Amino acid sequence: MKFDFFSNIKDFILDIIFPKKCLNCGKEGTFCCEDCFSLISINPFEYCLCENPQKLPNTGKCFHCEKKTLNGLYSATDFKQKIVKRLIHNLKYHQQIKELSYPLSALILTHLYFVAKVFPIDSLLIPVPLFTKRKRRRGFNQAEEIGKIISEKINIQITTENLIRIKNTKQQVGLSKNEREKNIKDAFTVKDKESIKNKIIILIDDVYTTGATMEECAKTLKKAGAKQVWGLTVAREINHQ
Ligand SMILES: [Zn+2]
Ligand SMILES: [Zn+2]
Repeated sequence: MKFDFFSNIKDFILDIIFPKKCLNCGKEGTFCCEDCFSLISINPFEYCLCENPQKLPNTGKCFHCEKKTLNGLYSATDFKQKIVKRLIHNLKYHQQIKELSYPLSALILTHLYFVAKVFPIDSLLIPVPLFTKRKRRRGFNQAEEIGKIISEKINIQITTENLIRIKNTKQQVGLSKNEREKNIKDAFTVKDKESIKNKIIILIDDVYTTGATMEECAKTLKKAGAKQVWGLTVAREINHQ
């Protein structure tokens, strides 16, 4: 293997600034230790897109959600779990710990295994895109990092250049459901329609909140010719009532 001078220096500096410690218990050596990883409860069922999600016996949606463009959602775990929140937050805001995308991808893969979901081999993975400027500032797109690992493990192609964000929307955090829908409207476009025509698309993101972003992506992709669009996320926010 070629000696990579710069990445070697970068690793050395990162180890000093960010010593590898479990984000949950502080144990040294990894950002998420085995014990803490095993504490995360992974969803063993498929749930509908609804805000108070219903368990579904079969893949798809309940009749309340029939009108939604998104075909369904696979979400590994509940965002309310402290460890999950911490892992996702740190991946998003500290590009230095990009490797957090590994435990997060492992959660998704475990969920797919639990529910025995296999996507057709000619499906296409697409990470929910960030606006170019935001991606440049942050250095990377966390959905893309997770998507790359998933793609490799389930052997389904990923494309990161086709669905693009053309509107620099406000952060969805803190907005109501209606405001989120308005904010994200017409934010995306498809560059090459031919390559997604009649395809099953799997949209990847870290967290599913109201679903406004994924729904808008699904609309854009279906308008461009996609046959089905499914969501795949690490966590979802559930209104516990
Ligand atoms: Zn730990
Ligand atoms: Zn529903």
